[in-house]
Amino acid sequence: LSDKLDKALHVLKGHGSITEVNVAETLKEVRRALLDADVNFKIAKSFTTKVKEKALGQNVLTTLQPGQLMVKIVKDELTELMGGDAEGINLSGNPSVVLMSGLQGSGKTTFSGKLANYLKNKKTKRPLLVACDVYRPAAIDQLHVVGDQIGVEVFSDRGNSDPVAIAKAGVAHAKSNGYNVVIIDTAGRLAVDEAMMTEISNIHKAIQPQETLFVVDSMTGQDAVNTAKAFNDVLNFDGVILTKLDGDTRGGAAISIKSVVNKPIKFIGTGEKMEAIDVFYPSRMADRILGMGDVVSLVERAQEQFDEEEARKLQKKIAKNQFGFDDFLKQIQQIKKMGNMKDLIGMIPGAGKMMKGIDIDDDAFKGIEAIIHSMTPKERSNPGIINASRKKRVAKGSGTSVQEVNQLLKQFNQMSKMMKMMQGGGGKKMMQMMKN
Ligand code: GDP
Ligand code: MG
Repeated sequence: LSDKLDKALHVLKGHGSITEVNVAETLKEVRRALLDADVNFKIAKSFTTKVKEKALGQNVLTTLQPGQLMVKIVKDELTELMGGDAEGINLSGNPSVVLMSGLQGSGKTTFSGKLANYLKNKKTKRPLLVACDVYRPAAIDQLHVVGDQIGVEVFSDRGNSDPVAIAKAGVAHAKSNGYNVVIIDTAGRLAVDEAMMTEISNIHKAIQPQETLFVVDSMTGQDAVNTAKAFNDVLNFDGVILTKLDGDTRGGAAISIKSVVNKPIKFIGTGEKMEAIDVFYPSRMADRILGMGDVVSLVERAQEQFDEEEARKLQKKIAKNQFGFDDFLKQIQQIKKMGNMKDLIGMIPGAGKMMKGIDIDDDAFKGIEAIIHSMTPKERSNPGIINASRKKRVAKGSGTSVQEVNQLLKQFNQMSKMMKMMQGGGGKKMMQMMKN
């Protein structure tokens, strides 16, 4: 989608001159891009009509930078289409009950874990996960694996085949054990059918959740809208979770769902890891769709994961020229914790395009980590002592070549120099620049 829109907006972004003909041309391209992204036909049409009206109303043609104004109008309109300001989830109950709904494979179990982890990190919340997918033993196991991973208790009852009873027992367990949020993971089927709808509706009636969330795979395009409608008709849910918004995902679902069911999108899933969760901000999503990159989320996520104390220690070390490979290793681990590399790079404006076709995954660091692990502590803190024979030993130990070791040493040297230069507020300045 963003490629097409890029093309469509290219004419407008670049030059100062603009004619009524190419406004119309551009809007046609915008509409085609939306349709290609599985945005509902009517929505795409009314979207471009609105943009055109606004453009003409503001007399785009006579302004100094008509291209920029057009981009702004398109962006604002997209933002509004996806639902104004970000909305959080209602956690007013004690315990607050959050019910997950959606098709099989949409990402309910994964998102249940992500949400539990997200709330747990907020410190004031003590979540409990409840396993109500009783049809596959593996489903209960999966939630337990997730729970173990994030250190959140999972309530399950393998002897019980009644999801309504388990849900109730789960809420009771939360009450008597001081959990203030209960997240109920349910079963879904591959397509909407009556049995699934009856079951989710029965659970919904029995536990009366504060928040019912509909989880949908954003890669399912137009189907996502139909499924959303079916679930909303039965549950009148409170919000939408858009998963799998990583990789080459079409943004169409985000644009259509809100306008069809008139419910806010609350969170997005951007990867398989537990940290790959973000609050949904329509304006940021519009930026992303328009290829401007999601700088604000990137900065926020970086800050969240970066421990202040660590940062201070690191700065001291850099100032004293004591930055070594052990610190470097820590940095790599920090970056990895921030989530999928591809996601992160995708959030940098322009980088998505630059990196097209280049496969970056978390394994990118494997060789580097192996080399560092093969160094002695002395070598790590004082890389200067790594001579030819040491290089040979390190290469052998890490299963790499002397050339690769040399390359890493060289990069490390450059990095150390750069960090030294950035001392004294340079780094801060850069962060500030990114924010603006
Ligand atoms: P459920 O059947 O609704 O419970 O779906 P699951 O949580 O089991 O997810 C189905 C598959 O999608 C699993 O392989 C997950 O790892 C994957 N998945 C879930 N959310 C995301 C996401 O945001 N991004 C990506 N790339 N994969 C996801
Ligand atoms: Mg599941």
